[in-house]
Amino acid sequence: MIKLNQLFAANRIHCFSTRPDQEYLSEEEYSLVLEFFLQMDFHLFYMKTCSYRGAQLSILDEKSLFCLSEPEARYDMSRCHQLSCCLCYPSYKLAYRQQQPIIQFGSHQQHTFINGYRSILNCPATCTTRNIIYVLTCPCQQVDYIGETNHQQHGNRIVQEFLLGKKNTAHIRNELPSFETLVKNDMKLYQHSTHCSSAIQWFLDENPHYWPFIPRKLTEADEQREEKELVYYIAEPDSFTYANDVPTPPNGYRFSDEQKNAIDQFFREKIYLNTPNLHLDLYQAAIVAILPEYATAAVRRFVEALFITHTETKLNTIGHLDQFVSTHTTNQTSAPMECEEWCRNLVRR
Ligand SMILES: [Zn+2]
Ligand SMILES: [Zn+2]
Repeated sequence: MIKLNQLFAANRIHCFSTRPDQEYLSEEEYSLVLEFFLQMDFHLFYMKTCSYRGAQLSILDEKSLFCLSEPEARYDMSRCHQLSCCLCYPSYKLAYRQQQPIIQFGSHQQHTFINGYRSILNCPATCTTRNIIYVLTCPCQQVDYIGETNHQQHGNRIVQEFLLGKKNTAHIRNELPSFETLVKNDMKLYQHSTHCSSAIQWFLDENPHYWPFIPRKLTEADEQREEKELVYYIAEPDSFTYANDVPTPPNGYRFSDEQKNAIDQFFREKIYLNTPNLHLDLYQAAIVAILPEYATAAVRRFVEALFITHTETKLNTIGHLDQFVSTHTTNQTSAPMECEEWCRNLVRR
């Protein structure tokens, strides 16, 4: 485990130019991380020795790493009930969602990851508990991400910019993108939403002003008519300003003239100024583990990496520890994650 931490730390220093003292664990931190390490079973994370933040050892398996009894979920996350809390009171409609943005209010918390790995929450928590590890799952149920903070504004901004297209985006932004913006743009976590029709559906449910940017599937009648009209179209001077700069629709999809008019109107009326709702969660969140209050960022990142490795999350770029020990190069990052059209089967509701 020490070797793994050294490799992980060196990799992070290489990728992010951080300082060694921010990455390498101290002697005392090793014992804390080891406690997590030893309880990450092949199929299940179930912390039998947890005794902080009000967690109680059950008498049967007290202080033992091995237990004979079936693990049981005893803790959950409770509401903080502060009006400013975006988990207790999300600032968007939940009408089309099956669950709250964060799923474990009031239910004994277990989580099954997309690859089948399970975790049972190790202590009680509220919305304000710090030093937690959580998982974000896309509504398509195909990909997940383990992390500490979620920046909804980046996710929503990136979907918006994808729909508007590069040229139109440059037109509505007054300044050049910051370094942070560029870094977020490259994150798989945010990139995925622009290729995922389930995420786009959630985006449209909350932001119906963006429907004109969704190309429609061509019917056979459309195709025949288009063939006839093609000559006419080429001869006609182009009357649209912004609609010409939206991304080219996938094969078999197109924008109607009515949509193109609506797109031009969207820019003329500056609807982009008040939309989209940047607080919308494009992922479903669940807490999977809680660290002691005093745990440092280096500890949290390493425990996160243990989770990332066991759960094989597709949207994490950093933290797959098996890449350091495997003799084969697992090229899981280059596999195409989705090939279906992002605008397929969207419903106006
Ligand atoms: Zn709350
Ligand atoms: Zn998805």
